[in-house]
Amino acid sequence: MAYEQPALPYDPTALEPHISKSTIEFHYGKHHAAYVTNYNKAVEGTELDSKPIEEVIKEIANDPSKMAIFNNAAQAWNHTFYWNSIKPNGGGTPTGALAEKINADFGSFENFVAEFKQAGATQFGSGWAWLVLDNGTLKVTKTANAMNPLIAGQVPLLTMDVWEHAYYLDYQNRRPDYIDTFITKLVNWDFAAANLAAA
Ligand code: MN
Repeated sequence: MAYEQPALPYDPTALEPHISKSTIEFHYGKHHAAYVTNYNKAVEGTELDSKPIEEVIKEIANDPSKMAIFNNAAQAWNHTFYWNSIKPNGGGTPTGALAEKINADFGSFENFVAEFKQAGATQFGSGWAWLVLDNGTLKVTKTANAMNPLIAGQVPLLTMDVWEHAYYLDYQNRRPDYIDTFITKLVNWDFAAANLAAA
């Protein structure tokens, strides 16, 4: 079935000064939109067209003949997940069950932050850093290009896009500054908590 690009959950200016309207216009309006368009074109009229995009991603992840479809499908899904992983006036610390789970599985919130920043900073080239639930345990992972944790049977709770298009207009080559801002000013802990509760 056609995958519709969800509306951005906030105004394009709402993340300023941390993420500019210009970045949103390119990232959401051009990059994400193109992945969605290309995915829909690729599956139209095929047997994949009847399936939810999450099913398509898992089904074709290891099929080299469907690499182009996979890349657009996963990028369409990853970006929707990313827009929900950040919000205006985000940051701070998680509360409730998520806070307890982070303390239990990472030792402390500070340990989680250090591990998440490290994952984002050390993803060579394009990719993503994730907080996932893996067989009942919270873990930080990183994936290259379009890959995502659904393929590994993990439940994504949160993601950070570290492709250059996510930060270059605002931070140029300073990926660590973007990562620090993501954690301190943008991350949407309510979204991660809801994903944990639903897992
Ligand atoms: Mn991106």
